[in-house]
Amino acid sequence: MASPVAAQAGKLLRAAWALRPCLPLGQSQGIQVTSRRWLNLQEYQSKKLMSEHGVKVQRFFVADTANDALNAAKRLNAKEIVLKAQILAGGRGKGTFNSGLKGGVHLTKDPKVVGQLAQQMIGYNLTTKQTPKDGVKVNKVMVAEALDISRETYLAILMDRSCNGPVLVGSPQGGVDIEEVAATTPELIFKEEIDIFEGIKDSQAERMAENLGFRGALKTQNSDGKPFRDQVPNHNPYTVFVCFDAKINFDDNAEFRQQDIFAMDDKSENEPIENEAAKYDLKYIGLDGNIACFVNGAGLAMATCDIISLNGGKPANFLDLGGGVKEAQVYQAFKLLTADPKVEAILVNIFGGIVNCAIIANGITRACRELELKVPLVVRLEGTNVQEAQNILNNSGLPITSASDLEDAAKKAVASVRQK
Ligand code: GDP
Ligand code: MN
Repeated sequence: MASPVAAQAGKLLRAAWALRPCLPLGQSQGIQVTSRRWLNLQEYQSKKLMSEHGVKVQRFFVADTANDALNAAKRLNAKEIVLKAQILAGGRGKGTFNSGLKGGVHLTKDPKVVGQLAQQMIGYNLTTKQTPKDGVKVNKVMVAEALDISRETYLAILMDRSCNGPVLVGSPQGGVDIEEVAATTPELIFKEEIDIFEGIKDSQAERMAENLGFRGALKTQNSDGKPFRDQVPNHNPYTVFVCFDAKINFDDNAEFRQQDIFAMDDKSENEPIENEAAKYDLKYIGLDGNIACFVNGAGLAMATCDIISLNGGKPANFLDLGGGVKEAQVYQAFKLLTADPKVEAILVNIFGGIVNCAIIANGITRACRELELKVPLVVRLEGTNVQEAQNILNNSGLPITSASDLEDAAKKAVASVRQK
């Protein structure tokens, strides 16, 4: 039997479990994806979702001006207030603003100070260990009731390919860099693999709760023997577990069945080029090499990346064309790919299953002409209607290099960049 505290914490874990609708899959080892393939919610959005699913969070307001932040702080009427910059990166507490302000998370008892601090946060860039060097612009702040923290723990639910499903990862050593904990004290990282069909079991939730250090009897009394309830009228004596910080991601493939959640996407932290790509149903991922890749499907994208790397090259970006492709999309895709000044060559690697290669070929020739393509273009098409596609490319009179397979394509693309 688990102790009452573990049982209680276990309940919280099961509540968090209800939020797993579709978590991001792991990434290819080879690719350091600098862009999203999923929806990232801001902290305030994550907390709203969690509270709707029975996870305890602090009372809070969201503000996008200093004045609103001040008013929110007054309305909260809390003993102490915590002001938190809302960006998708972690490590905010130790971050710095380009306004000069230090710290993206501040505690104060004075609502006026909230207004003053918010003034130095909103509209400025916050740089943390997890952001690019220039930081990320803060558009919103969270004004929350500060609570006493007796101990911080860490809990994540992730999709893990190696166990074909979700895994709970927890550590009693929360509140600090979890990567640091994993590196220096791996014995303090606990895992529970979850059967995707059965969901989390009580025993697993309770074991994790115990591993997080929630042991012993529930504290329902203060040291003077009075029940909590009498001392802190607004607090339920049993809710000792509060989620202070949160980050929830949703795989883009879940969009069609999680429309309410995806409606929360404010896209404010996307690269403009990603938003532009999304307009045409294309997925853009920016990388730091010089070979632009035009592919269909995430798997092919990763394979293409690996083969380019194996041949000594580096991808500049990926544009992933979905299933039912139209010629106009191919044109837009080229426009986006060549907009990146790093790009010195383009590699097209399309496997025509649902996609008709002839449509791609027509799109490519049109794009080459209209955009007056200046960089070498290597094309590997395979699958549906490939013969007609080859004819279109060969008869176009354009300087397009055909490749027989992926290896050949990668070699030719890498060589075309080296020649310069
Ligand atoms: P992060 O730095 O982006 O991970 O943001 P967090 O939400 O984790 O906040 C950073 C730190 O501020 C936490 O680790 C806590 O130590 C502290 N903090 C945040 N909220 C509160 C609060 O309500 N009360 C107290 N006492 N500390 C808080
Ligand atoms: Mn944190």
